[in-house]
Amino acid sequence: MKLPSYEQQLSALVATPSVSSAHPDLDTSNRPVLDILATWFQDLGFSVVYLPVPGEPDKANLLATLGQGDSGLVLSGHTDTVPFNAERWQQDPFKLTTRDERWYGLGATDMKGFFPVITEAVKGIKAEQLKQPIMVLATADEETSMSGARALAEIGQPKGRYAIIGEPTNLQPIRAHKGIMMESVRIQGLAGHSSNPKLGKNAMEAMHEVLAELLLFRKQMEAKYENASFAIKTPTLNLGYIHGGDNPNRICGHCELHFDLRPLPGMSLEDLRAEISQRLQPISEKFNTPLTFESLFPGVPAFEQPQNSALVQAAHELTGQTPESVAFATEAPFLQGLGMETLVMGPGSIDQAHQPNEYIAMSQIDPAVAVLKGLIKKFCM
Ligand SMILES: [Zn+2]
Repeated sequence: MKLPSYEQQLSALVATPSVSSAHPDLDTSNRPVLDILATWFQDLGFSVVYLPVPGEPDKANLLATLGQGDSGLVLSGHTDTVPFNAERWQQDPFKLTTRDERWYGLGATDMKGFFPVITEAVKGIKAEQLKQPIMVLATADEETSMSGARALAEIGQPKGRYAIIGEPTNLQPIRAHKGIMMESVRIQGLAGHSSNPKLGKNAMEAMHEVLAELLLFRKQMEAKYENASFAIKTPTLNLGYIHGGDNPNRICGHCELHFDLRPLPGMSLEDLRAEISQRLQPISEKFNTPLTFESLFPGVPAFEQPQNSALVQAAHELTGQTPESVAFATEAPFLQGLGMETLVMGPGSIDQAHQPNEYIAMSQIDPAVAVLKGLIKKFCM
């Protein structure tokens, strides 16, 4: 069978909804997208397996492999998109629209457009030509929980030596990003009439000390950790949400805080959580108010691939662009955790991601195909 053109492939992927969202009414299965990819890669001679995502029967990862060996090159993309706001789109988000040398559609740049770049790059390659395999990985739920990448980390798949995640970076090699943690602190006080403080336990006053402790912790982290490859060179901690109490004349019975923390490479999420927990415990004891410190989501570790690794060097040579860091998190730490040199690099711009009228510029496609062909030649042939 003849493979459809790049435009036809992108059109088919965009037309197949695969929104991932924490709101169940917006969330969509990614399996129809996987079924399309499975057909194309089977036609290209790849063997295809679906890998389950535990607890999510509507979601799966897909791994397509051409050739044999355990030191292959993984080309990885997520199949899901963010939800969309139809009123703010100038056209149907699911109908690929061509205008001004651009393709418009939901997921065009982030990142359904990467898969037809892969099919173009591998077209015509026979398994017999490969010393090491080409593996194509299509993941689930990157935009929400990263449950697809977490499931792969659990089962230790795929087994390769190198991995490219084709997130939109204008083909700039990205070898580092910070991690993301989103945490909550809930303090259970005791409400009572404000005229007599002894009638209750003021959760807001306890939270006041929690805030002070977190800001002190931030200051200490800023003094202790620095990484010059980031625009913001230190870890950050943002106080983002607080709610407590109901009336000026009532002792505040409950207070809740949400904050985010962006660790640098080398800072472990578990260690950070353990330290915060340890720092907050004395406040709970002092005010005699139960304090719950919990993660709002499992978090994404920071990621850094050393400048001198073979994959970073190869991408640098092929693109002519200096490897840098970005301010968004990816599935890279999970793939790197499987033992692969990992790099984030793909066509399209992150500026158009998660926006109405998302598009990918046509001029991005050919250079991206050429870079993938170069990497395949270097690492698989
Ligand atoms: Zn993305």
